[in-house]
Amino acid sequence: MSNGIDRKQREIYINENGVRFMNEYDLHADEREQLVLQQPNRRFWLIFDHIALYDGTCVVPQWTPEQLIEESKKEKAVWQAQTIEVLAQKINVPVDALQQTINNYNQYCKTKTDTEYARTYLEHPVTTAPYYALLVYAYSLISFGGIDVNENLQVLKEDGICFENLYAAGEILGAAATSGHAFCGGMLLTPALSFGKYLGESL
Ligand SMILES: Cc1cc2nc3c(=O)[nH]c(=O)nc-3n(C[C@H](O)[C@H](O)[C@H](O)COP(=O)(O)OP(=O)(O)OC[C@H]3O[C@@H](n4cnc5c(N)ncnc54)[C@H](O)[C@@H]3O)c2cc1C
Repeated sequence: MSNGIDRKQREIYINENGVRFMNEYDLHADEREQLVLQQPNRRFWLIFDHIALYDGTCVVPQWTPEQLIEESKKEKAVWQAQTIEVLAQKINVPVDALQQTINNYNQYCKTKTDTEYARTYLEHPVTTAPYYALLVYAYSLISFGGIDVNENLQVLKEDGICFENLYAAGEILGAAATSGHAFCGGMLLTPALSFGKYLGESL
């Protein structure tokens, strides 16, 4: 899920209850991830209107707006409708809740103050049909847990004693070994290659 550094969010995010749950423009990747994980069924929809679709880069990297519209005809990951009511029915979220959420957000765009989530980028009210919904699921790209090793990359037993001739490197160590709690893009290949090289040269 991109943050406000990659691209300015023209969308709002709503969960299965038809309500927002975060500042969509939040720059903190870790906080964004944690909030998404708390949503029912770990999924949410991006809601946006026709003007937002065409303003700047497409919400789906490497897609054009036309591709997104084409996808919406399949109604599998993207939906479109001429009214918010029909859009809510298509994605099976409460109509009244979604309508209220959008009314509130549009008001925040007018006053330039989001009293719920303090979003600061408020340039795109959801006002111009057709309206779109894009379904997003939380997913795991990498594994944080892994095999414990000592400073020589020797695999440790439960009691902390190492196996003499068993070494480990790469993602099998778990991302937490090099990144801690937070996901940090690009921080797996380099340790995998470096530790592999180290073992290859030192054994
Ligand atoms: C979609 C995606 C995008 C990613 N993008 C990035 C990125 O941009 N930057 C970054 O740093 N990291 C990225 N990662 C993570 C990174 O790719 C992995 O952490 C890294 O490739 C792990 O390397 P590895 O050698 O430890 O394991 P792997 O690359 O998984 O290699 C393990 C190998 O072991 C083989 N194998 C498994 N079981 C057996 C067996 N029993 N016998 C023989 N062989 C076996 C597998 O087939 C595989 O070839 C991404 C991961 C994914 C899934």
